[in-house]
Amino acid sequence: MKIQLPRGTRDILPEEVQKWHFLEDKFREICENYRYAEIRTPIFEHTELFERGVGDSTDIVSKEMYTFHDKKNRSLTLRPEGTASVVRAFVEHKMFGDVNQPVKLYYNGPMFRYERPQGGRQRQFTQIGVEAIGSFDPAIDAEIISLAMNFFHSIGLKNISLTINSLGDKESRLKHREALIAHFEPRIDEFCSDCQNRLHKNPLRILDCKTDHEHPLVATAPSILDFLNEESRLYFSQVKGFLEAIGIPFVVDPTLVRGLDYYNHTTFEIMSEEEGFGAKTTLCGGGRYHGLVEEFDGPATPGIGFAMGVERVLLALMAANITIPKDKALDCYVIVASEAAELEAVKCIDSLRRAGISADKDYQNRKFKAQMKDANRKEAKYTVIIGEDELKTGKYPFKNMESGEQVLASVKEIVQHFENA
Ligand code: ATP
Ligand code: MG
Repeated sequence: MKIQLPRGTRDILPEEVQKWHFLEDKFREICENYRYAEIRTPIFEHTELFERGVGDSTDIVSKEMYTFHDKKNRSLTLRPEGTASVVRAFVEHKMFGDVNQPVKLYYNGPMFRYERPQGGRQRQFTQIGVEAIGSFDPAIDAEIISLAMNFFHSIGLKNISLTINSLGDKESRLKHREALIAHFEPRIDEFCSDCQNRLHKNPLRILDCKTDHEHPLVATAPSILDFLNEESRLYFSQVKGFLEAIGIPFVVDPTLVRGLDYYNHTTFEIMSEEEGFGAKTTLCGGGRYHGLVEEFDGPATPGIGFAMGVERVLLALMAANITIPKDKALDCYVIVASEAAELEAVKCIDSLRRAGISADKDYQNRKFKAQMKDANRKEAKYTVIIGEDELKTGKYPFKNMESGEQVLASVKEIVQHFENA
């Protein structure tokens, strides 16, 4: 039987990897400017981490996790998202004791969710995200949003929109929760079985349901914004004030709830408005979470973060017809003009590479002309021809492929040429 890749996964072939490098480099550069440092956590964690950190009532935990038992019968799960792991590491390494607060981190890696694969939705997908843990300052909410917007602009995505909302603090959410239950309870039998379960567990989730989002009661549901207490309202208006001050346009959508249980106060989503991108337009989602550090037995600490799907960002770039710069070009192709010259050619290519110059040659026993063609196909900037006759002088034809200019040069001189360039 022919073995193929598992449903919902993809191979990323070298040409596409170049695009990934471009995005990853940009993201890293921007995170460094905003002073976020990279963290790498394991791909699998104890299942309980996500049950507690993401929440039992979420689709992620109740339906989408890749959970398995190891040989010692421990329940482990391939991580479906990054925040729970980052917060676990924050507690485990006592980063709350670090003098530098808030602790600002970013990550980049594969996530796993058992979902129905379709365009922009896979079972293994990649998220890059950031977390700022330890500050309850509305300026940090604006900073996080600005970081994401800045990233999208830096890669050339212009047609993007930002939607924000506030879920308020615990007190505001509790009042809203009661109002939601009262609103949905009389007609809850018209909703899907998930929503029926959610009614008392987490009624906010009903607003986020993919099955029932057209039900008229969803549109008329009480708005969280009418339940924000004074402190929550003030915080939200400060976040909006900072966004306005730094020129980031946004729309407030009181139904923006987000899929995870631990959010409060600010939540946001960034969408691509590119045509032809289809229905799955959310590139990035995030928000503030308080109580998560405590959930993992750390001291009460506020946090905020976002995650974006790299595959979806790439789809948006394609829809916007943005060409991505290629990885480093080939500096020099070494042509072997006769068999006797091969040893010298290998020495030449080795000298170039040791000096940090990208170099390639033929390994298919191609004739001279075919090697020239190969050099062109690989878009070599220079070629050097190592022939039997030239071995005596140690000076080889070294050609600038763009200008056509050619000189005779020794290997040392060729290396120097690149080093001085
Ligand atoms: P959706 O509503 O599209 O399922 P979500 O609310 O589950 O998204 P988050 O958990 O907030 O998504 O993840 C943040 C981002 O990660 C999403 O905006 C999306 O770009 C990406 N993402 C989430 N799930 C997938 C997936 N299965 N395949 C590809 N990308 C995904
Ligand atoms: Mg989802």
